[in-house]
Amino acid sequence: MPREADIVVIGGGISGCGTAYYLAKGGLDVVVVEQRSIASGASGRNGAQLVQMDGRTLNAARVSKRLPFVRADVELLRGLNDELGMDIELQQFGSVDLSANDEESETLMNMTEIQKNGGDTIVEYLDRNDLLEYCPAISEDIIGGKFTRTDGSVNPIKLAWAYALAAHHQYKVKLVLHTKVEDVIIKAESALGVKTTRGDIMVNVGVVNCTNAWLIEFTKDIPVFPVQNVTSVTEQVPKVPIITWDGTYRGNYGYGTSQKNGSLVVGSLPCRIPKSVEEHFDESVSYEDLERHAGFLTKQFPMLKHVSFIRIWAGVFAMTPDRLPYIGSIPGYRNYYINTGYSNGMAYCPIGAKLMSEFILNDGRTSIPLDFVRPDRYLNMKFDVPKQYNYTVLEHLLDEWNL
Ligand SMILES: Cc1cc2nc3c(=O)[nH]c(=O)nc-3n(C[C@H](O)[C@H](O)[C@H](O)COP(=O)(O)OP(=O)(O)OC[C@H]3O[C@@H](n4cnc5c(N)ncnc54)[C@H](O)[C@@H]3O)c2cc1C
Repeated sequence: MPREADIVVIGGGISGCGTAYYLAKGGLDVVVVEQRSIASGASGRNGAQLVQMDGRTLNAARVSKRLPFVRADVELLRGLNDELGMDIELQQFGSVDLSANDEESETLMNMTEIQKNGGDTIVEYLDRNDLLEYCPAISEDIIGGKFTRTDGSVNPIKLAWAYALAAHHQYKVKLVLHTKVEDVIIKAESALGVKTTRGDIMVNVGVVNCTNAWLIEFTKDIPVFPVQNVTSVTEQVPKVPIITWDGTYRGNYGYGTSQKNGSLVVGSLPCRIPKSVEEHFDESVSYEDLERHAGFLTKQFPMLKHVSFIRIWAGVFAMTPDRLPYIGSIPGYRNYYINTGYSNGMAYCPIGAKLMSEFILNDGRTSIPLDFVRPDRYLNMKFDVPKQYNYTVLEHLLDEWNL
């Protein structure tokens, strides 16, 4: 148990491990403190999709804000196997938002145009015949979809571990696991260290909070909304032609992808909407969740009806009012930084970690301007969210707030 470091990173997900890696690579002595184990939060529980323009409430301005981050992220991901010395199982086979009727097709064609107007030169709308070339397994009901050929999937557990192991082996980062940070030690508005369940660790440079949904345990000034989601995985099947997909089944939204080992991953909102913020942290699942996932898979890809699911689990991620993360200094404090608020992990966390480290190492100068993700942009603002909410409720609210 170290008692001193240049930097303490709180949280051992993709963001925490990535931030630790880049800071240590930049020459700092870094300790990661994680309350459970590496990738035990959202990073080890997600749907493995790499989707650069997620959500159905984008407009041109939102697209252009997001583009520099997600494009830089994909470039970064492409070099990570070599840099970190581990296969993160990046597959860029494309992603498609599927449509099974004229109304959905119109919506998706509009979304394609909106993305193009925001500067996205990769997105395209494909009709059924063109789509079959990329994904021959789609059902006869599918008539087209919004397609992004540079999207795909990543193994999120390997991504978090690749950062953690490279940080530890190459740059001597200490990984302090099963240890909870109870508080950040602040004096005269400056972060001096952290108080953990195994004693204090004092810092020379600062503390970086990478706790994502758990940020609500540290501050109420910076708005994040924890959101529960459910993911399942199937047995490994011989190479099936499935790319990353989004779609609906009985009016419910679902998504999935395939992994390098041949397992298929399916994700959705939980069938039972959590009744309070605390319930979003509940990691139990129901039989209905599994039934719904089987429904998604067989509706979009009927040839998979005999494939067995082997595991299902729940996890929690953080949404922010504009669905962009917070990267920078925690307002009002010196040496206390935040890199959190990720509802989309694969397309944002690696670049977010790199930018966080640049911010700390270069006195606030970063290779991509951080104006859009400044942590003080909603400081102390109140956002009215119903006690019982899920991802869809929030997405509509975010659109209403028009941020
Ligand atoms: C079910 C589900 C499906 C998803 N599907 C996708 C998808 O398909 N594609 C995609 O891109 N994104 C997806 N996401 C979102 C993605 O997983 C997250 O955006 C990403 O993992 C966030 O990483 P993180 O490191 O910021 O947070 P986390 O991985 O949640 O890490 C935060 C860590 O902080 C630790 N921590 C919290 N409090 C403390 C404390 N006091 N002391 C010490 N440690 C603490 C937690 O234990 C946790 O390990 C999904 C998320 C979920 C839950």
